[in-house]
Amino acid sequence: MIQIRNVKQQEYSTSQQEIKSNNTKLIFNLIRDHMPISRVELSKLCSLSVSSVSNLVDDLLKKQWIIETELVAASPRGRKSILLEVNNKFGCVATVELLGRSFICTIYDICLKKIIGTRIRNTDYGANAIAETIRGLLRSAKLPLNTLMGIHLIFPGVVDSVSGSLLFSQFFSVEDSLDRHLVISLARQFPQNTHIMISTNGSIIAFQSFLANKWAARLPLLSINIDEAIFAGVVLSSNDNKKNFCFPVEIGHSVVDYHGKLCRCGNHGCAETLLNTLSLFRNLNEKAGMDLEYSEHFGSDCNVESIKKIALALEAENKKVISVLEEYAHILCSVLRSTVDLLSIRSIRIGGDIALLGEKFLTTLKNCFSTYFHPLNNADQVQIELYVSDYEDVRKAATIMCLDDIFSK
Ligand SMILES: [Zn+2]
Repeated sequence: MIQIRNVKQQEYSTSQQEIKSNNTKLIFNLIRDHMPISRVELSKLCSLSVSSVSNLVDDLLKKQWIIETELVAASPRGRKSILLEVNNKFGCVATVELLGRSFICTIYDICLKKIIGTRIRNTDYGANAIAETIRGLLRSAKLPLNTLMGIHLIFPGVVDSVSGSLLFSQFFSVEDSLDRHLVISLARQFPQNTHIMISTNGSIIAFQSFLANKWAARLPLLSINIDEAIFAGVVLSSNDNKKNFCFPVEIGHSVVDYHGKLCRCGNHGCAETLLNTLSLFRNLNEKAGMDLEYSEHFGSDCNVESIKKIALALEAENKKVISVLEEYAHILCSVLRSTVDLLSIRSIRIGGDIALLGEKFLTTLKNCFSTYFHPLNNADQVQIELYVSDYEDVRKAATIMCLDDIFSK
């Protein structure tokens, strides 16, 4: 999990062991991103000496995380060079996205290549159902259980940062009899060395933005996903710009209208009750005469289809639809504005189903932000963009987080 608690640890720790494991992690990730690659090229990329890189590489070779390949250059002398690659046979990681009454389980090798995946619907998911699904997928892919290095559970809600127990989610009611200690229950079903972790969608979305940007976006960056719920995370950089940190921010439950609708969290008028896509569908059906089909279940296919219909109505300049979207943009901007001021945000990336509304919606949002909401700092310099994220990218980010965690153990 990436949390503020961990930011402190990363900033102030000076233990040799931690420096070594951070550098090993860095080298491994660079090899995966640039393979095949030589030791010299690696040292240029990470600003470590060739001898330090060689030591770290030797360690990774010994543990079989990576392998050497020999390439013969096409030059007249045919010089040979030894290059490094990640050993994709070394192991795999399972990601499990917990959705309303269903879950998606996907298995990746350590090169981030998807091996196999499935979606289990209409289930009261507990540790048994998840463990059985993972074991079944491993069997189908002919992978022995001991190649499973880790499981990363992705929870659409709030998790206790110390114990990892599930605290709250918009998508689970009492009847769902959610196992609050899912991580511990699942750990009982797998060998002791399987690394089992849980993160909220917000953490992973921030981490995925961080990976996608590769230090390019202006930081701090607020990454916010809006679909049946709101998940957000922030990417910050240290004062010397050498380190970047990601952590979830709970902005969906900021109260924006205390006379508003009761939210599942117990408060009235949370931003989420006004801004989730379900609320948008309801408003468009009532106020713009649309006939959008939608489901309360997180990750339902019909909700994506309905968003696409709204995008078409916007393209066709449907006035009633535009007016509902303008009202929506106003509430969204008020939430964005307070976060921008709180954390000196310089770029905002909006993903999730809402990003499918496209350029017309982005223009409405930008106009609203610049006309009615003036942040106290960098007033005109906040970049806003829509980001149609691929769920595959989110799962890959979750896999990298799990591998990074295994390196840090
Ligand atoms: Zn709430």
